[in-house]
Amino acid sequence: MSLQAVLGEAEDIVKKVVPAGVELTRVEFEGPVVVIYTRNIDVFADNQEIVRQLAQGLRRRVAIRPDPSLLAAPEEAEEVIRAIIPEEAKISSIYFDETGEVTIEALSPGLVIGKQGTLLNDIKKKIGWAPKVVRAPPIPSKTVDEIRQYLRSVHDDRQDFLRRTGRRISREPSPGEQYVRITSLGGFRQVGRSATLLMTRESKVLVDCGVDVSAENNGAPYLHAPELMPLESLDAVVITHAHLDHCGIVPILYKYGYEGPIYCTPPTRDLSSLLQLDYIKVAFGEGKKPPYESPQIREAVKSTLPLKYGETTDIAPDIRLTLQNAGHILGSATTHFHIGDGLYNVAISGDIKFERTWLFNPAVNKFPRLETLIMEATYGGYHDTQPSRQEAARRLKDIAKRVLNRGGKLLIPVFAVGRSQEVMLVMEELVRKGEIPQIPVYLDGMIWEATAIHTAYPEYLNNQLRTQIFQTGENPFLSGIFERVDSSDMRANICDDPDPCVVLATSGMMNGGPIMEYFKAWADNPKHTLIFVGFNAEGTLARRIQKQAKEITVNDRGKPLTLRLKMDVETIDGFSGHSDRMQLMNYVGSMEPRPERVLIGHGEEHKCMDLASSLYKKFGMETRAPYNLETLRLK
Ligand SMILES: [Zn+2]
Ligand SMILES: [Zn+2]
Repeated sequence: MSLQAVLGEAEDIVKKVVPAGVELTRVEFEGPVVVIYTRNIDVFADNQEIVRQLAQGLRRRVAIRPDPSLLAAPEEAEEVIRAIIPEEAKISSIYFDETGEVTIEALSPGLVIGKQGTLLNDIKKKIGWAPKVVRAPPIPSKTVDEIRQYLRSVHDDRQDFLRRTGRRISREPSPGEQYVRITSLGGFRQVGRSATLLMTRESKVLVDCGVDVSAENNGAPYLHAPELMPLESLDAVVITHAHLDHCGIVPILYKYGYEGPIYCTPPTRDLSSLLQLDYIKVAFGEGKKPPYESPQIREAVKSTLPLKYGETTDIAPDIRLTLQNAGHILGSATTHFHIGDGLYNVAISGDIKFERTWLFNPAVNKFPRLETLIMEATYGGYHDTQPSRQEAARRLKDIAKRVLNRGGKLLIPVFAVGRSQEVMLVMEELVRKGEIPQIPVYLDGMIWEATAIHTAYPEYLNNQLRTQIFQTGENPFLSGIFERVDSSDMRANICDDPDPCVVLATSGMMNGGPIMEYFKAWADNPKHTLIFVGFNAEGTLARRIQKQAKEITVNDRGKPLTLRLKMDVETIDGFSGHSDRMQLMNYVGSMEPRPERVLIGHGEEHKCMDLASSLYKKFGMETRAPYNLETLRLK
């Protein structure tokens, strides 16, 4: 539908619902949203029914905004706000967004609002922007701040980008026979470099574009496959979550001609850019040439259209996307695609945890409609049973008590995101309840920053933790035991310090990162213990150690260094962000509606095949474990 046609239709709908005199000044596509500008914003604010009717009538997401002529320039508006709000409110940041809303973040939100909202009303009258007040996150995050500032600095560019994207989504679909296909571009019959292409006659959507960090060569998915090329023909990229095996190669798309949007949750956007920056830093540190540089990461941030869980949105003329909680890490999502007008429905699980954890609610497995499910099988093998979260915590406590009481150190390799925060919560409880002495827990390699991002998005955590975070004095992440390692000198001191301590460091699978420094220093001392709490892919150092290698050769500033491994090695299952075999079976078994077909990936070959055959035997649906580079017609 053209803009003119949409404006005409919107005016008709508004005329039917509200009294005469309401003036619509302009209409614009902004990404998937139809934005209608008006001089009479209060009429809409007081009457949500009009907005609902507009969305229904136009069959699109609709946003009503004040005509730009009513808004003060952001710099000027910020001065007004700071003059009105008393200093004791302690404003930590003010940011203006595309919606005509200004968010005021403060340590004492009550003082910003004023008695019966007097201050806010005053602000609105003077600057036109609608003020929204939020409590400042308890741990400031550099990433969140920098992304906000960056988006503000590229505001005009981004407006253009949103318009272009919106017009592309609204193009008239070409007539003819419709079909739905998927091509497995990476991460099938393996873990790493996840990438799945969803194709219809009209559109192409790439779901995830990860890197296999354990690969000898570049570890990228098959991006040169003819189905994906040229990249300009791609309508959208959707990222399930921020782990590098799902988002590690995304910025490269902007190097080779992709100019379109990325859809993911707001925390996934922030965490992805944090992990991508670290990925290129680690590559540089190892003397390798990274596949992209920071300008492409910024381009990806600029091109992201954040979506909350449950918010349905058009991403192509014939495809609607909804993200749902996947329970795996902060902001992780299962993607649901509704194709055509009731033609077909596909869901891609991403990595899922189908159990409530300390951090998240379990993965959502209810959809309005579903024909094909593409799911992960990390622990899909017949024997992949995992203990519960409670049991995992108990084992960690037992090991911690034993090792720390004998004067040893605990070294825990972790992904910065997810497991780190769960292990932090368990350690904090141990110390708080006096079960182990008040030892320092050092966090090295982005874990601190990742934790800060968790507290910036409390609505993505489970209710209990959310409440704890906001009750001052009870936020477990603010416990005095946690110390951030922020220099190589500090790291060297910790390595030499004889006293017991706990170190959580990246990378989780020990292919580089600060963990290696501690490992080199402590590997030959039987007093210390190395504990694995996450999944280790085939080919990684962590996997070799788990397989009881006695001698390990590591890279020491470009030279090989052989270590004799005498420290204890323990593996604690049950902390994983992945569902075990039983949970995966239950996930499909209790899914509503039950899919007709299940395609399985993100697992070692035999696990994928094993899960495929078990699901078929138990539930009778068609199942398959595709190879990379297969194209399957779904409809
Ligand atoms: Zn993951
Ligand atoms: Zn994964």
